[in-house]
Amino acid sequence: MITVTDLRLSFGSTEVLHGITCDVAEGEVVCIIGASGSGKSTLLRCMNGLETPSRGSVEVNGHLLTSKERRADLAAVRRDVGMVFQQFNLFPHLTARENVTLAPRKVLGLSAQEADERAGRLLAKVGLAAKADAFPGNLSGGQAQRVAIARALAMQPSVMLFDEPTSALDPEIVGEVLAVMKELAAEGMTMVVVTHEIGFAREVADRVIYMDDGRIVESGAPQELLSHAKTERARAFLGKVL
Ligand code: ADP
Ligand code: MG
Repeated sequence: MITVTDLRLSFGSTEVLHGITCDVAEGEVVCIIGASGSGKSTLLRCMNGLETPSRGSVEVNGHLLTSKERRADLAAVRRDVGMVFQQFNLFPHLTARENVTLAPRKVLGLSAQEADERAGRLLAKVGLAAKADAFPGNLSGGQAQRVAIARALAMQPSVMLFDEPTSALDPEIVGEVLAVMKELAAEGMTMVVVTHEIGFAREVADRVIYMDDGRIVESGAPQELLSHAKTERARAFLGKVL
């Protein structure tokens, strides 16, 4: 579903991704862990075309994103890849339902009725049928993040990317968002999740990638990497977060 090949990315003269190669199979759940500043968000943003590779390539569901050719496939990738951010990024002046219907109406051309039906179904799926007419300002962080997940799913993406989706939430509501993500994984959604929730990675991930300083240092099954990391760097990181 995703193939990243020798991806390099610079901001100005500073290279922050130093040749990343990895792939994600259809239906696979991959968690990316690593210290702040190691390039996790930048890698994720390359997977939906929010950043342009300086060198190398990213292919998502057959659509190629490179520095030269990316334009042709950018719109297709954006439609095909759902993204959920730490800060929700809901439109504050739209209700939960309107947040979910906007892109299907504008981008996919669904009728108001079709989009409303889809939004109703998805808000029910994330446990928020009763909040469809609420504005983001009147939702808890956990509810807002679940609306953001419903909004991404409304485009019927092939892949869902999550960038620290629970890092801005109070500890007692992290679980309600992780539960929705776990259900998505069980349904077979292809997911790449940047997270510090090691318990989630252990339980849900098919594979864990540990990044440091713009490189993939280690990658493997959760039981292996999280309990028996091969590199000293990964062990030191895990010692701090576990
Ligand atoms: P992480 O998500 O692992 O914390 P990031 O991908 O956000 O790491 O950042 C990786 C590196 O790239 C950091 O050194 C960060 O300061 C730098 N960086 C990220 N975004 C930008 C940007 N838009 N302009 C310049 N530097 C950036
Ligand atoms: Mg980040």
